Amino acid sequence: MKTYRTYTPAQLSVWIPQLVARNDMHAFYISHAWLHLREQVLREQHYECQLCKARGLYVPATTVHHIQTVRHAPWLALTKSNLLAVCDECHYKIHHKQNKKWEDERW
Ligand SMILES: [Zn+2]
Ligand SMILES: [Zn+2]
Repeated sequence: MKTYRTYTPAQLSVWIPQLVARNDMHAFYISHAWLHLREQVLREQHYECQLCKARGLYVPATTVHHIQTVRHAPWLALTKSNLLAVCDECHYKIHHKQNKKWEDERW
């Protein structure tokens, strides 16, 4: 079994705000911890878009979305229950249509 560096919620709460501050969220998205978990979530959610699936459609998932954003809830960045396999179209909609509403709901 391959070992890779992962982060506790407490470490994420320190690390991610640092990345945000220096505008380097990319470092999170290329971390082994994220890439490994992302692959695991896609596999567990059968590479199906969970939002399309809820509407009775089968669409391959291409992305793993953070339900509570990494910026706003860094401690949930590597928590499976905060992750959702989605297709590009649903992902776009989540971020461009509902984002405002979601932000309001959360903050
Ligand atoms: Zn979809
Ligand atoms: Zn997203």
